Amino acid sequence: MNPKIEKLIKMFARLPRVGNRAATRIVLSLLTDKTGRASALATTLAEVSSVIHPCQNCGVLTDGDLCDFCRDTSRENGSLCIVRDVSDVFTFEKSSVFHGRYHVIGGVLSGVTGTTPDDLNIKNLPQRITDENITEIIFALPNTIEGKTTANYIMATLDDIENITFTELASGVPLGGELDYLDDGTLTLAFGGRKKL
Ligand SMILES: [Zn+2]
Repeated sequence: MNPKIEKLIKMFARLPRVGNRAATRIVLSLLTDKTGRASALATTLAEVSSVIHPCQNCGVLTDGDLCDFCRDTSRENGSLCIVRDVSDVFTFEKSSVFHGRYHVIGGVLSGVTGTTPDDLNIKNLPQRITDENITEIIFALPNTIEGKTTANYIMATLDDIENITFTELASGVPLGGELDYLDDGTLTLAFGGRKKL
């Protein structure tokens, strides 16, 4: 295999859920396409990735100071759903089960990956709770020891804030489960049956 093509395949294969076979198919399809799709993709990717960054309030991706969710006045204040990744927000939005506010923390505490509290996007949580009248924090983190540890840590940091309820998604999220593997029905059930912590 040509080393340049091989390099490209390796880059694609590192993307989430793209294995070697899919990466090979994508790369060969782009390189043999005569309509300019490869250069259009490269240009758009460069353009978009140069202007997109995390929302300063919640961590969802945006090209402005605040993301569409934070600017949307029709969304309810009062409940804040804490997720690990931006992709989890998309999973929730697809199911239409939640109409409150999101907060993307960007990881979970882990000795394996070396993720510490400083790496998490949690510093402005107390401010958000005050500004957005948050009365319920819903943890929708991975159903793993690391996810639980992270939820416990965040609860401890917010310990002195009064009149706030902490909940987590009900069973239905399989142990070790990532949110984006859930179908809409399972997520809706897990959300509806959330448990108080
Ligand atoms: Zn935002």
